[in-house]
Amino acid sequence: MIQSLLIANRGEIACRIIRTARKLGIRTVGVYSEADAGAMHVRMADTAVHIGPSAPGESYLVGAKIIAAAQASGAEAIHPGYGFLSENAAFAQSVIDAGLIWVGPCPASITAMGLKDAAKALMAAAGVPVTPGYMGENQEPGFLEAQAAQIGYPVLIKAVAGGGGKGMRLVEQPGDFVESLASCQREASKSFGNSHVLIEKYITAPRHIEVQVFGDSHGNIVHLFERDCSLQRRHQKVIEEAPAPGMDEATRAKLCAAAVRAARAVDYVGAGTIEFIADASEGLRADRIWFMEMNTRLQVEHPVTEAITGTDLVEWQLRVASGEALPLTQDQLAISGHAIEARLYAEDPARGMLPSTGPLTHLRLPGGIGRVDSGVAEGDQVSPFYDPMVAKLIHHAPTRAEAIAGLGQMAAQTECWPVKTNAGFLVCALADADFASGVIDTGLIARKGDAWLPAAAPSDAALQAVAYLALQKFGPQIGTNSLPGAWSQHGLRLNQAASPVRLRLAFGEAPLEVELTTAAAADASIAACDTSIAACDTSIVPCGSSIVPCGNGWLVSEAGQTHHLAPWRASATHEGAGSGAIHAPMPGLVIAVSVAMGDHVTKGQKLVTLEAMKMEQALIAAFDGVVAELAVSVGQQVEADSLLVRIEAHAELLPHVATNGTSAST
Ligand code: ADP
Repeated sequence: MIQSLLIANRGEIACRIIRTARKLGIRTVGVYSEADAGAMHVRMADTAVHIGPSAPGESYLVGAKIIAAAQASGAEAIHPGYGFLSENAAFAQSVIDAGLIWVGPCPASITAMGLKDAAKALMAAAGVPVTPGYMGENQEPGFLEAQAAQIGYPVLIKAVAGGGGKGMRLVEQPGDFVESLASCQREASKSFGNSHVLIEKYITAPRHIEVQVFGDSHGNIVHLFERDCSLQRRHQKVIEEAPAPGMDEATRAKLCAAAVRAARAVDYVGAGTIEFIADASEGLRADRIWFMEMNTRLQVEHPVTEAITGTDLVEWQLRVASGEALPLTQDQLAISGHAIEARLYAEDPARGMLPSTGPLTHLRLPGGIGRVDSGVAEGDQVSPFYDPMVAKLIHHAPTRAEAIAGLGQMAAQTECWPVKTNAGFLVCALADADFASGVIDTGLIARKGDAWLPAAAPSDAALQAVAYLALQKFGPQIGTNSLPGAWSQHGLRLNQAASPVRLRLAFGEAPLEVELTTAAAADASIAACDTSIAACDTSIVPCGSSIVPCGNGWLVSEAGQTHHLAPWRASATHEGAGSGAIHAPMPGLVIAVSVAMGDHVTKGQKLVTLEAMKMEQALIAAFDGVVAELAVSVGQQVEADSLLVRIEAHAELLPHVATNGTSAST
């Protein structure tokens, strides 16, 4: 067995590989870029080697640096994970040439499957059904147009070197063909350095079904059944499951046999995935499932296969790379129950799922249920340099319905702030009746549109609870002022002292009026000032919500969505000049921070300077006040709209608020 292993990757997959290596007694070596100096995979590895700047092109994608790191650290083998260099045949070859063990297939297998047209031709020759289409050498536009007509519209033009959902054009009618072809070829030569395309029949409402295969160096090849990855957003997988809903035994047997034939055609060694596309308009039928491509590496979604087969595929990879035979034969493999995985991405549902980066000030991943593969912990950063995946949530249960329900609970338990995640979206998707029925295809997310958008604000019950907490926390201070009118000076605006109590909470930039309606809460509003907040915290939090103190307010998490609420600070200078929170107007680099926490600043004073698109922009105070929050430091990369600094007007009137603000992380 391999004794020491360098993991040429980062994030959850590096951590996941380290866990198995540790189980097998293998010494682990991590590699990291500048941005990842304190990352979880670096903390977990036995040793770690710095390989350069944050941009992947200068670190994780530089094969020579990875090999040098392996040699310097005495690592015997290299595991590429997925992405980065995992499907780079030249890198695999140079690992082998350096006398190291490559945890992956032979470079020749990677090359054979690297181009979509060559792979399809190879598969067709091996008797594997391929999507109807043209995949030849002739790239003359007129000829390709004639081919498209023969295949029948709609057709898909695909760059043969494409990947990651890029380099594809759907053409619905003949008149659009020539223009789409030109645009696809332009993108292909720009992105992949190869303008060759193939034409495929476009399957409307297709399902993405893939088969996990595994080979060893003794000539054994097995399959570990199928996964369904049909729930996609813009051709990117979001939820994956195994087995595929609606797959009958006969169809499964045919499909998996075709996958093994495909792997055999390239003498496959290690973990691989044969991706198929299925026209499921009349259910899953063997004669309507076609080869799409082979991924010559471990897939992101491998845990669902591990769950239903009771295997550890990284262990299999390491055993095979060490020269051992596959741990199980085909007869020993069976499907047990149903497993489903969701990719928890740092992205903002309210902004078209754009990536959301920054510090993970508050992060609670589900506990006590399912499997969580994560590469970050609270206090870490989601960097703009890499894939915005925070974690994978996986649930395994006897039935699909139970697996979905369990994963739904996991998504609902997720809390994250100020980075936004798709957890709330996942909760909606997993609760959807169409998804539950298993009638899924790659267009389902797009068709659901706003229906799967999570609530943009906390529930009324949660608002009540926060209002109540605000009263409790700031009440004693308020109580010292006999006139209700004076309360507004203290930021917490109470219009009436008697029931019903109305107050304002800051939600984002805007004030939110809340009326404490429950009799108990209203009665308690003043009287409860003396009771301990701890006692109150648990009793008033509505079922299914979580409320934790953060900064000068509270984080409210419900159904995967986390919102920040704080007492609304109103004052003469403040009103009309915004909340005092200064956000980045665009993504950029912090090149100067001109103030410190607690500094008194005057209107117009320079606070933070950003550099974006080679331009400098100074952000200034909108009114006199005190620096109540400083969220960035020099050298930090910030996303558009991320909080930089917050100025609080007349903070000296609110000593308890400032104190509370410093205990943000409790
Ligand atoms: P990439 O290598 O970029 O991932 P794939 O060939 O694997 O590209 O296709 C990615 C996705 O595009 C598939 O999962 C499917 O959703 C869609 N797709 C691919 N080929 C077809 C087709 N012929 N008809 C309809 N959709 C397709």
